[in-house]
Amino acid sequence: MLTFDFYSPEEEIFHPLYASKKVRVFVKRDDLIHPYISGNKWRKLKYPLAEAKYNSKESLVTFGGAWSNHLLATACAGAKFGFQTHGFVRGEHVDNPVLKLCSLFGMHLTFVDRASYKDKKGLFEQYFGTDTKAYFIDEGGYSVLAVKGCSELVSELTHPYDRIFCACGTGATAAGLIIGLQQGHLPTQLHAIPVLKGGQFIKSAITDLGIALDDRLLMHLDYHFGGYAKTKPELIAFVRQFTQHTGILIEPTYTGKMFFALHDLLQKDEIAEGQRVLLLHTGGLTGFLGMLDKF
Ligand SMILES: *Cc1c(COP(=O)(O)O)cnc(C)c1O
Repeated sequence: MLTFDFYSPEEEIFHPLYASKKVRVFVKRDDLIHPYISGNKWRKLKYPLAEAKYNSKESLVTFGGAWSNHLLATACAGAKFGFQTHGFVRGEHVDNPVLKLCSLFGMHLTFVDRASYKDKKGLFEQYFGTDTKAYFIDEGGYSVLAVKGCSELVSELTHPYDRIFCACGTGATAAGLIIGLQQGHLPTQLHAIPVLKGGQFIKSAITDLGIALDDRLLMHLDYHFGGYAKTKPELIAFVRQFTQHTGILIEPTYTGKMFFALHDLLQKDEIAEGQRVLLLHTGGLTGFLGMLDKF
């Protein structure tokens, strides 16, 4: 099994809002797992990489946008565990700090137009169809094996929680948390915050991974701030304010939207007094490198 020891404590954080609403708020610090194989990305890659090794694969082939945390995580994990890596990047050729880091870790990058990018299996067939040593990993690491990795988070928890919050891109992390809660027979509610517009697709993304939904899952569709990687001045101000209050760095693309949702729900009295809430810090802090002009 490919793995490494990591540290992801549950840490209580303090804010005047939590005190006034009499709730306790904790953060699961998956952002501390690794600086580049960030947060949930390690959990999602763990079993696919083990499967690739088991099947004697030598290269990992995956997909992402130009600022993809998943591309960077795959590039770094590939270097760490002895795989070559190949990334298909959506859109015209660009250069940015995240892609620079990907190639520094040895990833070969191929830019593909948006129409071709839609057909990921087709791209894999076209470029690697005859290469028996190449292993396909979907965009964002979305897979059944990713869900298994994410589900393990629940058994690491050292305290019971009434609610867990997570930001959703593909939904694989939320799927893993639901499975973990179901298997642990925990009544905890999962608040899923899609960071894209039209986030109801997350429900079918979860059921497509073979998971039966139950009333643990609460979807919040109104915290996308205009869409993926879109921000508004209100969100930027929130990220700044939160970071200054707590000493925990969040970014606007994922964790900023999730914490914003928590604060908004608290203000609307949707979380009862005395409850314990856990937020999953999924990392992704390199996302900042594309947004420095906003701060
Ligand atoms: C990729 C990512 C997510 C989304 O995870 P999914 O499993 O795709 O829903 C959330 N937060 C951060 C920081 C990420 O990089």
